[in-house]
Amino acid sequence: MYNIYLEENKAKYDLNELVKMFLKPSEFQLVEEDQKETALIRMEGFEDKNEAKRYLFDRLSQLTGQYPDWGTLTGVRPAKLCNEYFRKGHDTEQVKKILKDTYYLSDEKIKLLIDLAQLQQRILKDCDPNAVGIYAGIPFCPTRCVYCSFTSNQVKYEKIPPYLTALHKEIDFVGQHLKDIGRHAESIYIGGGTPTTLNADDLGQLIAKMKSAFDMSGVREFTVEAGRPDTITEDKLRVIKDSGVGRISINPQSMKQRTLELIGRSHTPGEIVDAFKKAKEVEIPIINADLITGLPEEQPEDFRETLERIIELDPENITVHTLAVKRASRLIEQDADYNYRQGEVVREMLAIAKEKLTACGYEPYYMYRQKHMSGNFENIGWSKPGTESIYNIRIMEEDQTIVAMGAGGISKMYYPETNRLERVPNVSNYEIYIDRIDEMIERKKIGIK
Ligand code: SF4
Repeated sequence: MYNIYLEENKAKYDLNELVKMFLKPSEFQLVEEDQKETALIRMEGFEDKNEAKRYLFDRLSQLTGQYPDWGTLTGVRPAKLCNEYFRKGHDTEQVKKILKDTYYLSDEKIKLLIDLAQLQQRILKDCDPNAVGIYAGIPFCPTRCVYCSFTSNQVKYEKIPPYLTALHKEIDFVGQHLKDIGRHAESIYIGGGTPTTLNADDLGQLIAKMKSAFDMSGVREFTVEAGRPDTITEDKLRVIKDSGVGRISINPQSMKQRTLELIGRSHTPGEIVDAFKKAKEVEIPIINADLITGLPEEQPEDFRETLERIIELDPENITVHTLAVKRASRLIEQDADYNYRQGEVVREMLAIAKEKLTACGYEPYYMYRQKHMSGNFENIGWSKPGTESIYNIRIMEEDQTIVAMGAGGISKMYYPETNRLERVPNVSNYEIYIDRIDEMIERKKIGIK
């Protein structure tokens, strides 16, 4: 057990996060000032946060022999940081040097960020300052995945219509309010939970409600998450296609039956294949597939097989996540050190993803990190050129207002003059959301300006 002293200041939280990248919670303790003499590492007297982080990184590297690829970066949005340096006028060589010298990023991660920044600059040019992103959440799923930390409820269908009534009310208000203040939608995303938990009629009515409520003239992208293959039927896909939705996300996570059982999914790999075939048959223009590296018991060869089978299904986007075991998940109750043991397995899986996806014509177009990720790696969205999701880029860049409706939705109002975000949250419990829908609307009336 190592004793570590972190002086009480603004950098303390970030420094503590950096320590956790190297050491399991059971391997260290933070000591108070009166015990700092006992500390193996003492962090005090630093004026500059980045300098403090580099010093701590060096000490922890000496101690553990580890050199995390993301260097001293503890935040979740490295691509945003990189883009900000470009916006400030630095050229590519200067940004590379900053990422290496100030943040200790590995050459591989620097190349990833530079490539992403250049691609995103091409996609996001001609941005209309009055455009916003729109999100609506359906917080229901057939079963709960073992790693889930989202708003996801397993309920009888009769519980869902009152939720939809409240959601339609919020959509009506937000649609009119945005029109009144001269804002229009650039992208729309119905997420969850699992929106295809809704039956075809309810799903169709929700999409129709969104289309009638918002000014659709500037919409570049409309996505419906069809996450769980066991909720996907041909009639729902036809509703999606006939409503003009251009993008869906089917989320297999793994093609290994044993893994699907271990993570609490109630579908088979065969149902995943069927869902893709149906979506192709009804000619949904863009299909995304979510996969996860580092799932329980999986080895690199399992991931390779999953990836090869998914590539055969020919989705336009493949998002490769690294499993993050968060506090709200069941997995962390079962295994508190899970993330720390998975590092090398995930590293190999991500190398397989990079090699295979690049060879098959996919390019990375957005990335983000989360806390508690296995091996402290990242999630990367890969796409065939020209099929990148603008909503996904925007939400990570935090350079546009995103209005989120439904239980658990957190709207983020962006103020470009000061490059500042203000959050306007809804409650996350769906029953409380129904009860307090007028208050959720009132919050938006005040918060969305
Ligand atoms: S599908 Fe997503 S939201 Fe639903 S239980 Fe699994 S992780 Fe949670």
